[in-house]
Amino acid sequence: MTYMKNIAILGSTGSIGVNTLDVIRALDGRYRVVALAADSNIKLLAEQSRRFRPSVVSIGSQTRLIEARRAVPSKTKVLFGPDGLLEIVKRPDIDMVVFAISGTACLAPLVSAITHKKEVALANKESLVSAGGILMPLARRHGVTIIPIDSEHSAIFQCLHGARARPSRILLTASGGPLRSIPKTKFDRLSRDFILRHPKWSMGKKISVDSATMMNKGLEIIEACHLFNVNEKMIDVVIHPEAVMHSMVEFVDGSVLGEMSNPDMRLPIQYALTYPERQPSAVKSVDFYRLRHLSFERPDNRKFPCLGLARQAMRSGGVSPAILNAADEESVRQYLDGRIRFSKIPEIIGKVLSRQKRCLCKAPALADIFKAEAWAKEEARVLCYR
Ligand code: NDP
Ligand code: MG
Repeated sequence: MTYMKNIAILGSTGSIGVNTLDVIRALDGRYRVVALAADSNIKLLAEQSRRFRPSVVSIGSQTRLIEARRAVPSKTKVLFGPDGLLEIVKRPDIDMVVFAISGTACLAPLVSAITHKKEVALANKESLVSAGGILMPLARRHGVTIIPIDSEHSAIFQCLHGARARPSRILLTASGGPLRSIPKTKFDRLSRDFILRHPKWSMGKKISVDSATMMNKGLEIIEACHLFNVNEKMIDVVIHPEAVMHSMVEFVDGSVLGEMSNPDMRLPIQYALTYPERQPSAVKSVDFYRLRHLSFERPDNRKFPCLGLARQAMRSGGVSPAILNAADEESVRQYLDGRIRFSKIPEIIGKVLSRQKRCLCKAPALADIFKAEAWAKEEARVLCYR
């Protein structure tokens, strides 16, 4: 009998979500889309529903429920809001959940998916940054492997697959983003379109701004600490503009393993879906003769203070990473809405972090994290209007 994998995609209308559906379409027919969720892009969600015929979809809020019901096929059930996501992840007919919503809205459904022992393919990094200390032990207790989709973490995950030894160092690569060779003094003169135009990857707006501030790499340091159970000091960031080497691991004997491919998110997405197997993909092979050389540089921590802020938050522990993440989410939103200048983003995050009360709670519960996030967003909002 052919084994079918039934999949839910939370965030199906975003960059990762659309790529995930592309991958599923190209795979061998053993992957069935059972549920889709999006926030407000009803048009695309309806198109996807007509194409993939999921049993259920969920939208961000109740206000557009009638419109969504009219737009999707009549047999598709329509849910809404945070409860809609929670209802999807616990459905018995779902084997794997792809978490492709940006920001912290993923956290509660992720906890539920783990407790319901679903396979987890995780693109969303913010949930691990905020609550990795809760999520990883929970996943271990329920025997759930969290399979990363973030390209660097997928690379590390692939390098460690079957390894008998633990890594002594992780080399987290970064393309350097759109501002790598632009002086800091010019940052505020650049248009939002320029900031959003990443040289190597086409991504959603939030992560594109994070790539420009390099907070994306900062969040990825914390993500890697949790996923691979390593200390922040064991992670070095390496600027690699060609974006062909997606990260490396070093072992005690000095051997370094890396994973290379052309930069295309369909590859780590497909690996997460087919893990531990591999299948042919549409991604072109690397042409090493044309590429000729790969370059590696040290990051400029003064030009990109978000890297240091992320390390500081990870070292402080407790709710500090959640505060960092929430302050980032809010200040990026305000930047995208045109309320603050680009260089205000790291400034605000730094201020919010420095205002947090001494964190006595070393092992916060989810409620403490939600409270800290709400506080950090409000603090960031106040600073934006100042
Ligand atoms: P996008 O902004 O392109 O997409 C976000 C998706 O989430 C959209 O489908 C959006 O719906 C949906 N969404 C947002 N809020 C809600 C909500 N409350 N309920 C239901 N759906 C919601 O983001 P990306 O695809 O770029 O990124 C997704 C995640 O993956 C992020 O955490 C990012 O850090 C991570 N990631 C992304 C990479 C990339 O290449 N893009 C690479 C590595 C990691 P709608 O369209 O209706 O607004
Ligand atoms: Mg990444």
